[in-house]
Amino acid sequence: HPIPVVTVDGPSGAGKGTLSSLLADKLGWHFLDSGAIYRVLAVATLHHDLPVEDEASIVPLATGLDVSFETNGDTTRIILEGEDVTDDIRTEQVGAVASKVAALPRVREALLRRQRAFQQEPGLVADGRDMGTVVFPSASVKLFLTASAEARAQRRFEQLKAKGMDVNIARLLIDIKARDDRDMHRSVAPLVPAEDAVVIDSTDLDIEQVFEKAMEVISSRL
Ligand code: C5P
Repeated sequence: HPIPVVTVDGPSGAGKGTLSSLLADKLGWHFLDSGAIYRVLAVATLHHDLPVEDEASIVPLATGLDVSFETNGDTTRIILEGEDVTDDIRTEQVGAVASKVAALPRVREALLRRQRAFQQEPGLVADGRDMGTVVFPSASVKLFLTASAEARAQRRFEQLKAKGMDVNIARLLIDIKARDDRDMHRSVAPLVPAEDAVVIDSTDLDIEQVFEKAMEVISSRL
């Protein structure tokens, strides 16, 4: 029997991260936050002062990326070259750079093996953009979680406000739309639901409702 995988793809801010970690907890499975890998690569690209379109230099950086995920109870610290970058990778600036390096075909290829290594017993919940289409095409269950850009900007606004950050919601909406556009229209692994994915629209749902729907789909297919 292959090790089971549940993929959760969708645009930024749809709630994939929250849903995926709840699912991984409930199932007792491993969790892959593939966006974090692209974000760590973005931080490394900035550290090394590389232009975001310099594919020839970013590919070896991706291949040799010295990153580890250290989970301790409920929290996971992300370590890049010995430095804790857990908080650094979550900024809007790093997210924007991540989506630019993620558009480089050979960079995506260089990260495939690293992502597939997360498929371990007893199972994996994989969160990203191309988990069901490219990285784990034979996954047991594929979910595509979406929400209107306005709802996603609103949620992001609440999160940042709760952290005491001063943000402009109109600006967030513009940034979210720009990132969607880059993620959906790039030539490799564009953000689209897999043919066999179940789409969940969370615009008018809270996290418990999304979780329930997702568990229904998973229970019916595992
Ligand atoms: O999900 P998150 O916002 O952390 O991802 C940051 C960026 O990394 C995304 O905007 C996307 O461009 C890229 N990404 C990707 N493929 C994935 C996960 C993330 O291209 N599987």
